[in-house]
Amino acid sequence: MQDFGLDIWGDDNYIIKDGKLSLNYAKNISLLKIIQTIRERGYKGPLLLRFPHLIKKQISTLFDAFHTSINEFGYTGSFHAVFPLKVNQFPNFVHSLMEVAAPYGYGLEAGSKAELIIAMSETPLGAPITVNGFKDKEMIALCFIAAKMGHNITVTIEGLGELETIIDVNTEFNKESALCIAPKIGVRIRMHSVGIGIWAKSGGYSSKFGLTSTELLKAFDLMLQNDLIGQLSMIHFHIGSQMGEIAPLKKALREAGNIYADLKKRGAYALSAINIGGGLAVEYAQHHQAQERNYSIKEFANDVVFLMQDVAKNKGVEEPDIFTESGRYIAASHSVMIAPVLELFSQEYQQESLRSKEINPPLIQELFDLLGTINRNNAREYLHDALDHRESLLTLFDLGYIDLEDRSNTEILVDLIIKKAIMLLKDEDTDELKRLQNRIQEKYLVNFSSFVSLPDFWGLGQNFPIMPIDRLDTKPTRPASLWDITCDSDGEIAFNPKLPLHLHEIDITKEEYFLAFFLTGAYQEVLGMQHNLFTHPTEVVVSFDEEGEMQLDDLIEAQNLMDVLDDIDYDTGKINKSIKFKIEDSPLIDEREKRSLLGKLYLYLSENCYLKTIQATEEY
Ligand SMILES: *Cc1c(COP(=O)(O)O)cnc(C)c1O
Repeated sequence: MQDFGLDIWGDDNYIIKDGKLSLNYAKNISLLKIIQTIRERGYKGPLLLRFPHLIKKQISTLFDAFHTSINEFGYTGSFHAVFPLKVNQFPNFVHSLMEVAAPYGYGLEAGSKAELIIAMSETPLGAPITVNGFKDKEMIALCFIAAKMGHNITVTIEGLGELETIIDVNTEFNKESALCIAPKIGVRIRMHSVGIGIWAKSGGYSSKFGLTSTELLKAFDLMLQNDLIGQLSMIHFHIGSQMGEIAPLKKALREAGNIYADLKKRGAYALSAINIGGGLAVEYAQHHQAQERNYSIKEFANDVVFLMQDVAKNKGVEEPDIFTESGRYIAASHSVMIAPVLELFSQEYQQESLRSKEINPPLIQELFDLLGTINRNNAREYLHDALDHRESLLTLFDLGYIDLEDRSNTEILVDLIIKKAIMLLKDEDTDELKRLQNRIQEKYLVNFSSFVSLPDFWGLGQNFPIMPIDRLDTKPTRPASLWDITCDSDGEIAFNPKLPLHLHEIDITKEEYFLAFFLTGAYQEVLGMQHNLFTHPTEVVVSFDEEGEMQLDDLIEAQNLMDVLDDIDYDTGKINKSIKFKIEDSPLIDEREKRSLLGKLYLYLSENCYLKTIQATEEY
């Protein structure tokens, strides 16, 4: 696997050019060149790059797919989309999104008061806002305020209590106004169909959200009685994220379509839209056997449009407008986290580290001979001999017959023999070789925190595509495990022989090696946790002007140490004083040294939490 599954997850966003991973956009700049440009300005540690052109690509692909289906089927409803803010609320993302999405009349979805405020300030008037999730009176009042500003806002009710609050707030807000202005009302339905996969809980009878059919009928009556039926405009459902298969969606569409038609026939005259929620999956797999999505965006759009048309035709109602709230699909690909490798842990297993003695113990001498004469024909036999000798030699050490130097030589020699044998036998795909790969895996220490940058890897076992951004013209040979720099053994992406990751054999004291983590733009950023007090990495928006020249904007540096402590409510003034006094009062150092130590300390406090260097000579 030389391209690290790029043809599976890459979606033509990247190409390999001169051995470097490069953007398949503008002038095909390499990721290495981008991060070198940023690092030259003094920003080290992990870097999060955001590419607005990839947000635009997802949006236009989604709209093109639906517009094509609508045209092909002669569908009379229209297509709209809103972005669910819970997937990524970071300003650099939201601003880029709203900029590239403006031509599509794209809106935002909010699930909390803070998200609603973002939606009210960032969505242009006219573009839709939808509001889901549990709401209190204040949140509903905010929706009325948005409606009075002129926003096209729909409040989706998750239960009857919310509808009762809407009725109250409506009376309060419209009592004195000449014009009765209220948000549109949507109803989220509790599906009997359920989603699949690790995020399937959002659908089904036991879901946290939505109205049962009994509640739906009650809600309908309440709206009629309170003169709000003219506001009921949308049916909403969401069957869960990262739908791997299309079948559950088709069932849900039929269910929702029939509810829409039924309510319309009952007299919901303003009902005009079905909101199919999110769930459109992203392909994260780097290996064909692990593929996560079994449908294309075209199939998805065709199914939605066809089924809505079918139900509407059968029931004799107007074809509804279609809304989606895809989040993952829109945001995942736009960001890439790139981090330097700091150290390789079994680098000591090298020929140079051998300490050959004048007279080696006979078994060790034999290992030297095996290493010297191993070839394609004898590789398997020599490999077995070496493994056998290792067992014997380790026993001899335990019994006190050989010393630490002999033991070190044993470990190095056997490791070198295994590596050589694997090279020689690489065309044979046997279980034994796979097992051995596991044994010679290399641990790469990477300057990032998986808890900050890949929380779904820790929490849900979600894999993200990982690859080096350079040296792609040479075959990577080391089976690799990745260690992050947190002090938590869960911060490891272990080597998986079924889905192997191989990286290059490198000497990190002489050369830089960067790993990129892809498809991190959805959910990871705000779910990321400050375990060990590591923070969101330094981020940059990377865009391209009309000439294709790169522009780096909106750089936000990772928080400095004092700000991190301030965030968790330490009194940083007190911390400052305490450490300053301890230096000033220390009987161990003189005045000059105190001043110099204080200078150093303040410099360190102004920097971020990621590691600067491991090797003394290099700066990371
Ligand atoms: C989370 C959520 C979404 C987004 O789902 P994706 O799988 O990211 O597309 C859409 N709608 C609602 C109601 C949600 O809760």
